[in-house]
Amino acid sequence: MRRPLVAGNWKLNGSRAENTRLLTGVMAGLENEPACDVVVCPPFVYLDQVGGMLADSCIALGAQNLSAEASGAYTGEVSAAMLSDSGCRYVIVGHSERRALYGEADEVVARKFLAAQGAGLSPILCVGESLQERQDGITNEVISRQINAVMDLIDIRMLASGLVAYEPIWAIGTGQTASVEQAQEVHAHIRSIVSAHDAKIAAELRILYGGSVKGSNAGDLFAMEDIDGGLIGGASLDPVDFAAICSSTLS
Ligand code: PEP
Repeated sequence: MRRPLVAGNWKLNGSRAENTRLLTGVMAGLENEPACDVVVCPPFVYLDQVGGMLADSCIALGAQNLSAEASGAYTGEVSAAMLSDSGCRYVIVGHSERRALYGEADEVVARKFLAAQGAGLSPILCVGESLQERQDGITNEVISRQINAVMDLIDIRMLASGLVAYEPIWAIGTGQTASVEQAQEVHAHIRSIVSAHDAKIAAELRILYGGSVKGSNAGDLFAMEDIDGGLIGGASLDPVDFAAICSSTLS
């Protein structure tokens, strides 16, 4: 039985005051222990503030990105060990915005996954196809390439502490969610890729869906066999909607 997980990716949003308001609202909404793991991923500079607020709560701290390097002359970068030292348990790796806007290729994403895992963090590996790739009928091919780039670099056992998030690029921030059938089909494909290497790890791997998830559509998505929760962007900035999404893992 896979315990669902819901992670909020705050992206480039927040301020000390705004974070306090948001987290207070989320914690009030989750007053009864949620039936899923909950993670929030604020910008780096707020990890300390948010981590402090989350102490003794049921919500875990995550980061949105990390360096593939451990230390040295890499101005502006943040290492896996630093995130771990700052109280993070999770880190998002290879988000499509980082792939598209900052040129993160599959190989870099794979190295980041390895670095995160090596520091004891649970990497949330994001994969997903563009609208053009879906229209060209190569969704599974794209997803296989993205997953295999990581599997080629890591020992399959490392996936046991990681997660995968399927995030179709055309659904991110657009209000256009993948249908439950579309999402389930790709999630099952992801599980089958991993299963070809290790059936037990595949069966236990949590695969999140991301792309315009809201309180109103989360229940239907999370009810699908291979969807084990969500990676939430916009709706994670609304405490009521985010708490509703977390509660949707119950149904
Ligand atoms: C995301 O960026 O990971 C995401 C899923 O965003 P949104 O929920 O806003 O589509």
